[in-house]
Amino acid sequence: MRILLHRADGKTEPWIKDFAKFLPEAEIEIWHAGEKCQACDYAVVWSPPEAMLAELATVKAIFVTGAGVDALLKFGDALPAHIPIIRLEDAGMGVQMAEYVTHAVLRYFRRFDEYEAQARAGKWAPLPQYHKEDFAVGVLGMGVLGTRVLEALAPFGFPLRGWSRTEKSMPGVQTFTGADGLDTFLRGSRVLVCMLPLTPETSNIIERTNMCKLPQGAYIVNVARGAHIAEPDLLTLIKSGHIAAATLDVLRNEPLPAQHPFWQEPRITITPHISALTLRRESVQQIAANIRKAEAGEAIAGAVDRTLGY
Ligand code: NDP
Repeated sequence: MRILLHRADGKTEPWIKDFAKFLPEAEIEIWHAGEKCQACDYAVVWSPPEAMLAELATVKAIFVTGAGVDALLKFGDALPAHIPIIRLEDAGMGVQMAEYVTHAVLRYFRRFDEYEAQARAGKWAPLPQYHKEDFAVGVLGMGVLGTRVLEALAPFGFPLRGWSRTEKSMPGVQTFTGADGLDTFLRGSRVLVCMLPLTPETSNIIERTNMCKLPQGAYIVNVARGAHIAEPDLLTLIKSGHIAAATLDVLRNEPLPAQHPFWQEPRITITPHISALTLRRESVQQIAANIRKAEAGEAIAGAVDRTLGY
């Protein structure tokens, strides 16, 4: 069995070693621009270059080393529709997302950001406490990662809300569905956490009209994709005070350009797309198990629905 591997960072050796451990029967071929590849059975990629499409079009399945597949689906019909695309499910990302989002929610609820600013100014001044009943956390996307985040938040006692495309039921979480449910979901969410895949339907979902539906003084945490947020709208609403603050792990242009106004806005916290990193060992282990299932003709979890875009 041959696997075609592409790593944008060029650091392929540790991946080869992990494949040798978890799928010793596989030969790994590294993709290099301009070189003709041997016929490969499977491809393992994250955001492949366009020049790799010809090779991707001949494999039995493409395994993506991330939870989101927007960087692959952007090629549209250039990727033959019959080739299954399999994404990572959790693979160690769930706990990272839970840590990141819980930190952001507690930081705002306990006003740590304001205390940090006060401390830098040498100011000792207790602020009024927020109340949990006024601090509902709404998670856009109740998939593998959104669910982990809601589970992690549950012990703190915040009212929890979740929004998804299809109906869900989760103990302790008020659930909302589809375009009809979005309005009510937003109006009651003091903290909005975005955990959606980037698709034509979800692109730009956090824009002016939807942000205005959030309660006055709402917070936004985006750990999904930069294109979910209309950046100029967010800046306007932060300056007006309607949005109190935002934590953004993902941006439309990454790295965020030096001149971008977000850098100058103290109420916006930027992190460089680190909320849930791909963990190599866990990922290779999951991909190896899935390849074995594919070889055995068994169903594989994480198969992407190309028509839905996730
Ligand atoms: P899943 O596919 O498991 O979950 C996606 C969720 O979004 C589902 O609940 C789905 O609804 C919902 N959804 C999709 N489209 C719509 C829509 N049009 N309307 C309402 N709900 C919708 O994905 P994961 O939880 O594994 O990952 C989510 C995203 O997180 C990834 O796509 C990626 O973009 C991002 N991510 C970011 C990382 C980072 O480091 N910043 C790291 C990892 C992931 P339903 O359940 O009904 O299908």
